[in-house]
Amino acid sequence: MGDDIFDEECDYLFKAVVIGDSGVGKSNLISRFTKDEFRIDSKPTIGVEFGYKNIKVRDKLIKAQIWDTAGQERFRAITSSYYRGALGAMLVYDITRLSTFVNIKKWLHELREFGNEDMVIILVANKSDLSHSREVEKEEGKVFAEKEGLCFMETSALQNLNVEEAFLQMITIIHDIISQKSL
Ligand code: GDP
Repeated sequence: MGDDIFDEECDYLFKAVVIGDSGVGKSNLISRFTKDEFRIDSKPTIGVEFGYKNIKVRDKLIKAQIWDTAGQERFRAITSSYYRGALGAMLVYDITRLSTFVNIKKWLHELREFGNEDMVIILVANKSDLSHSREVEKEEGKVFAEKEGLCFMETSALQNLNVEEAFLQMITIIHDIISQKSL
């Protein structure tokens, strides 16, 4: 992922992390967003991986550096350095596995413990293409997100639904917070 780190001048470099239970689609959301790729059989090597994407937001060129847990969540081995400096977080569950939604509370707790205070958090309900095996209603995700003050979106990395929109929403809010601060 991301060999073109220093190829262009950009106005900002943002770090964002993607977290959630194993198998919810984190790696595929990142590869869909950064490379427009989907892998049916993705078994990432253990360790942190990054994806990069240059995007234009409100006339500024932003390089988004998206961190993938690359399987470390299976061992609960994510350390505070993973979160350090992250301005945004995408918190992902799988609509076909209720347990991954239940665990969002734990992930949110961890984010609030280790993450920046004003980190922009978006809750992402992935695998919306599998609606026949749905275990979590859209409304449940939405209500939870509203209660916790998070953005919310249902996505499908497989069908490329709302993936770009979800990352863009997070990145645009980060941009707006930063440009307000530097006024
Ligand atoms: P991670 O462990 O959270 O990084 O999840 P992966 O990206 O490795 O995906 C886990 C499995 O779910 C893989 O078999 C993917 O092909 C599958 N997957 C990921 N996103 C989607 C999606 O939007 N729809 C469907 N049907 N499968 C998906």
